[in-house]
Amino acid sequence: MSQQILDPSQAAAELTKYTSLDGLSVEQLLDPQLSGGLTYNDFLILPGFIDFSAHITSLESKITKNITLRTPLMSSPMDTVTETEMAISMALLGGIGIIHHNCSAEEQAEMVRKVKKFENGFIVDPVVLSPNHTVADVIAIKEKSGFCGIPITENGAMNSKLVGMVTARDIQFHDDETTPLSEIMTKDLVTAKKNITLAQANEILKTSKKGKLPIVDDQYHLVSLLARSDLLKNQEYPLASKSADSKQLLCGAAIGTRPDDKERLALLVEAGLDVVVLDSSQGNSVYQIEMIKWVKEKFPKLDVIAGNVVTREQAANLIAAGADGLRIGMGSGSICITQEVMACGRPQATAVHRVSEFARKFGVPTIADGGISNVGHIVKAVALGASAVMMGGMLAGTTESPGEYFYHEGQRLKRYRGMGSIDAMSNTSGKDGNAATKRYFSEGDTVKVAQGVVGNVIDKGSVRKFIPYLITGLQHSLQDIGCRSISEFKEAVYSGAVRFEKRTASAQLEGGVHGLHSYEKKLFQ
Ligand code: IMP
Repeated sequence: MSQQILDPSQAAAELTKYTSLDGLSVEQLLDPQLSGGLTYNDFLILPGFIDFSAHITSLESKITKNITLRTPLMSSPMDTVTETEMAISMALLGGIGIIHHNCSAEEQAEMVRKVKKFENGFIVDPVVLSPNHTVADVIAIKEKSGFCGIPITENGAMNSKLVGMVTARDIQFHDDETTPLSEIMTKDLVTAKKNITLAQANEILKTSKKGKLPIVDDQYHLVSLLARSDLLKNQEYPLASKSADSKQLLCGAAIGTRPDDKERLALLVEAGLDVVVLDSSQGNSVYQIEMIKWVKEKFPKLDVIAGNVVTREQAANLIAAGADGLRIGMGSGSICITQEVMACGRPQATAVHRVSEFARKFGVPTIADGGISNVGHIVKAVALGASAVMMGGMLAGTTESPGEYFYHEGQRLKRYRGMGSIDAMSNTSGKDGNAATKRYFSEGDTVKVAQGVVGNVIDKGSVRKFIPYLITGLQHSLQDIGCRSISEFKEAVYSGAVRFEKRTASAQLEGGVHGLHSYEKKLFQ
């Protein structure tokens, strides 16, 4: 008997006759009886219904109980990934950078301080000179720091009477570098009074057309400075992650879980730290539990991201100790050999789902750390319950990552190394001992067992272009899935409305470029 052809108007009604939606729910996808451990490449998300444009999609997400970002992207605390430059750029673009701790506590605190001081509404400790300083001093500052609008006060310090400003124009045609600034400084100044709002000060800057606006008190003492370049930066980065009150960029930093890390954290907090990451490859330890409790007691306002974990049981201990966020991943990093050497770890997709599903019950956001190598992986991590992703390899090799470029066989490269590589664990620049060895509990060992490798990655250009590509890619992906925001997406996954499909090995081949003689893979423009 031939099948009866239905009228098209019955399509919706016909769907209701199926007992479930097409594809698998997240629980079915990750059913431990059936699937074994899955990685991001082992599955796909099925498309939904589009009735909105991609650019309205919100990527807002929490990384801890108290910190919400506009972009769910974090840079890894690795010494070839996150120092000042990376942390500033990540925050400007709506994410956050976590500064590594494979250096002295002072060096790390200085990096945090620089991030916090960047793009201040009001710069509270600008470079200040006295009338007796010379043109040579200004030139030296310009060469070192790149800026040149310097306030001149009676004694060359803040909170002293403002007597002039020296700008690039004042020194431009001045060959005699010994001339005192009193002879060349601009004395006709536009200033603003202390307690002026940022918006009012911005207006004065705009109309005065000056580069810097000194802020003075009733005695005409200099109390802060507003920079025109900061105004421009503000306009360029609408997603920037900032503290609501100070308008400073958000900054995170990693520490270990040993006694000297407590002193380190005190310095970081003094520098303005917003969130601390307890950096361990296996976070379920008595050291970490004790450290979380200590931090919560000593710095109750500081959010703590604990980890790393890959199981519910590990997560439960850290949640109970007071963690505000959890970092998930063991062995999934691109430079990682942990699973090979330690026989310990978990495929990342399974780890993210298991931990996130549990942590969600306690309102603790999770961060999928390691193994992210394209936009699709970020979407999948979020689909499995992560609130944000942490990236190392994706951001290594960018202009903002630490290290120098070099050429090898015609390609421009930068080094990228695992913090558990022998190389990183041998770094002795920090006077407090080596942070990398602590991450892997190896500081007492006579033989160091590597859990990471040293490699090179290709020049990726600036993160200021790369992150916007990731953001736009994520928005288009959410549009395909039919969700207008990350929160809507996560709810839809847990309710079973978003569906999944497993990918066989041949499905993975089919999903990649195939059948071409040669091709160029340009990802964005
Ligand atoms: P990626 O984004 O795949 O390159 O992975 C980065 C993540 O790998 C980091 O955030 C760490 O969690 C982890 N990681 C860093 N160094 C090592 C290592 O030497 N061995 C294992 N994992 C590492």
